[in-house]
Amino acid sequence: MDITRVSIQTIYRNIVNLFITKGETLTLIDAGFKSEEGKQQVEDALRTMGYTLADVEQVVLTHHHPDHCGLVDAFPNATIVGHPYCNHFLQPTEAFFAYYEKFHLHLLAQHGIHGVDAMLQDFMKSDMEHFGTNPVTHFLAHGDEVPGMPGFVAHYTPGHCQSHLIFVNEQTGVGFGGDLILDTISPNPFVEPPLDLSLERESSILKYHASLAHTNELAIDALYTGHGEVVTDVRGRIAEILAEQRARAQKVQTFFVKGQRYTTVQIAKQLFGPVFFKQPALTLSETLAQLDYLVQQQALDIVYDNETYYYTLRAL
Ligand SMILES: [Zn+2]
Repeated sequence: MDITRVSIQTIYRNIVNLFITKGETLTLIDAGFKSEEGKQQVEDALRTMGYTLADVEQVVLTHHHPDHCGLVDAFPNATIVGHPYCNHFLQPTEAFFAYYEKFHLHLLAQHGIHGVDAMLQDFMKSDMEHFGTNPVTHFLAHGDEVPGMPGFVAHYTPGHCQSHLIFVNEQTGVGFGGDLILDTISPNPFVEPPLDLSLERESSILKYHASLAHTNELAIDALYTGHGEVVTDVRGRIAEILAEQRARAQKVQTFFVKGQRYTTVQIAKQLFGPVFFKQPALTLSETLAQLDYLVQQQALDIVYDNETYYYTLRAL
């Protein structure tokens, strides 16, 4: 199977990779960021292989983030393949937006933030114009073989987001990893509504760690990732990511004084200072990740009091 990488500049101060593969079918792994230049780059890459945009038979999405599915509309004959959660963003409904707002209001309230509209807006800003509008019509579940790519199995790997899949051929050792594992940066475990669209938050970081543990067991020699270079030492990179995680959590733990209880916001302010007020969604997500981890490690206890979560050092 031939793999051609196309790297497209995004507005998020980074570059996103998509991959053109030719085996049984002409497939794109991810669609890249939506821009005229990006579309042109894909068109040029296809042309050097002897194809046009119309020849692409399928686009297989690793996840729903706009830098990965922005250009889905550029391929008139392609089936869009991926996780059903992607469609909340590719074909959003009024009902989903209403739910999305309710979920985040509930989340903020539980962490002691009431009536701060700017914070809600930071969570709600949706980048909607950067998404494509062709929906996923072929759904993949954990363990499914990817259509048109014999030997490639979809592995559900949530944590970076709820729709995340990686595609791995353990016979050849080739994998497509989306944003699960990147060569130099650790993906953000962003807070997102659960798959069942209920109001209770699931822990992104704990899901992410479970996805890393699952991936650690797979035979992968070359993981083609959504950003940066191919990762060849997947297990080594996972160990590094987990070590960074432990170090971050240890830092957060030092903020706690015995016998005192703290809200997530209090910890976020200590961790991020004024940046917390500029980027509450990002910083609150990151703080929650550390607190979830410390609770799981039994370093902290969590108390739900007066409809608010408080964290304390665990009594020995
Ligand atoms: Zn992403």
